Amino acid sequence: MNGPTIWLMVSLLANVGMAVALWRFARTNRHRRDELKHRQQAKIDDNERIAIALEGAELGFWEWDLATDSFRLSARSLAMFGLTSDEEIGATHAAWQARIHPEDLPVVLAKVRAYQENPSERLECEYRVRHRSGVWIWVLDRGRWLGDTGRQLMVGSLLDISSRKEMEQRLLRMAITDPLTGLSNRRAFNERLQLEWARLKRSPEIQAALVLCDIDHFKRINDTYGHGCGDEVLKHFASRLREHVRATDMAARIGGEEFAVLLEAASIEDAQVWAERFRQDAAATAVVCGEVSISYSASMGVAPLDVRLNSSEQVMQQADSALYQAKRQGRNQVVGAQVFQN
Ligand code: GH3
Ligand code: MG
Ligand code: MG
Repeated sequence: MNGPTIWLMVSLLANVGMAVALWRFARTNRHRRDELKHRQQAKIDDNERIAIALEGAELGFWEWDLATDSFRLSARSLAMFGLTSDEEIGATHAAWQARIHPEDLPVVLAKVRAYQENPSERLECEYRVRHRSGVWIWVLDRGRWLGDTGRQLMVGSLLDISSRKEMEQRLLRMAITDPLTGLSNRRAFNERLQLEWARLKRSPEIQAALVLCDIDHFKRINDTYGHGCGDEVLKHFASRLREHVRATDMAARIGGEEFAVLLEAASIEDAQVWAERFRQDAAATAVVCGEVSISYSASMGVAPLDVRLNSSEQVMQQADSALYQAKRQGRNQVVGAQVFQN
């Protein structure tokens, strides 16, 4: 091969090499571009996925800048409370606190403080927030510091848990209520009696009394007029009872035709006067059941919550003995327990 031919071949090879290198560079570049595009697409998909998941979870968000006290709510959070812009709530944490139920606010603030002092704990709190319409919305609030903001920014989510709370409260009410009369049941009464007993132990100058009532010859009422009319008598007795007690007292159906009343701030004498008035009222009003009108009476035993006794169960026994005596003495009467002869 002569010189020019060799030169030609070398330059040809160089060009081919260059073309291959360019082609490879373009291909790698295209791959990189595709990859970047793909990654961006994946990111968009992820963001979309997160947005859809959050939408489905019905979560609202808040952001709290502690330096400026600015407190902003997301559109979904605002919608939870019937609002459209955070200016409507003032957009400060102080204004947000003003929307929280006064009974819940101290707990919320204590939890926020505890989290801010010890962020390893989780900030999680259930409380009520006022809706624009005035009703209370129960929310589950979960918050945390945002990244490395030097504890300047907190973020959190809000979930409307009103229906769950309503269900919980309904179940709680059912657990402590007698379904026939709507009065408290034995369980609720015993709990209250124990609380009252503990309160009196701490402050013996406070007085309280227990009244046990039992409808007389109730079996006869059932046998004569039927179970349905017996139920009407029980409801009637409960409604009379409800009218006689004060808001601070407690009346309960603790058995078939047995009722108990806790009278606050009442001596044994006060309680006996109260019971006598109630006995007369119940005996004076007949119950209409279908075609018949049923008169009935009740016997009552009264005992003071005397802290010289050992327990609230003993108070119950004292009242029960007095009731038994009322039955033995001919029914339709009130008997006071003679706990201690001073
Ligand atoms: P006493 O004057 O000694 O108290 O007699 P009594 O008949 O009232 O007492 P007893 O304990 O013999 O009967 C109570 C009855 O109450 C028996 C029971 O069938 C009835 N009873 C219990 N619960 C209910 C209820 O929810 N509805 C109705 N209608 N009757 C009930
Ligand atoms: Mg009985
Ligand atoms: Mg009875």
